[in-house]
Amino acid sequence: MKQSLPRVTKQRKAIFSALQGDVSHPTADEIYQRVKRRLPHLSLATVYRNLKLLAQEGLILEISTPDGPNRYDPQTHQHYHFFCERCERVYDVEIPVQAQLNRELSRQGFSVRSHETVFYGLCRSCFKAANLSS
Ligand SMILES: [Zn+2]
Ligand SMILES: [Zn+2]
Repeated sequence: MKQSLPRVTKQRKAIFSALQGDVSHPTADEIYQRVKRRLPHLSLATVYRNLKLLAQEGLILEISTPDGPNRYDPQTHQHYHFFCERCERVYDVEIPVQAQLNRELSRQGFSVRSHETVFYGLCRSCFKAANLSS
């Protein structure tokens, strides 16, 4: 028989499952709006706290963006991101992870666990729109 879970864990599970299958890299606030429909007593602070914990445990990724809120990603395998400076969308970038960068740092005496890379610029649709309007 399944034991009933404490409330915190229930919230955490709801937050975690709200992210599954989401490729849009939502902010904590967007996740909050989503989960609140199911758990009306949820607070934004709880969402922030649980997202931090999930990221620390390696169950989700936390991505920082310039001057904006952090984004969250259910895809935990190492991959790169592209941040559009116009629409502020975060995209997954399908290029091979550059493992030789880690090796290069190892040669310099650093013990590298992982690295992350964020590209900045205009996404395809913003680039197209910018070209059309000029
Ligand atoms: Zn864009
Ligand atoms: Zn991603």
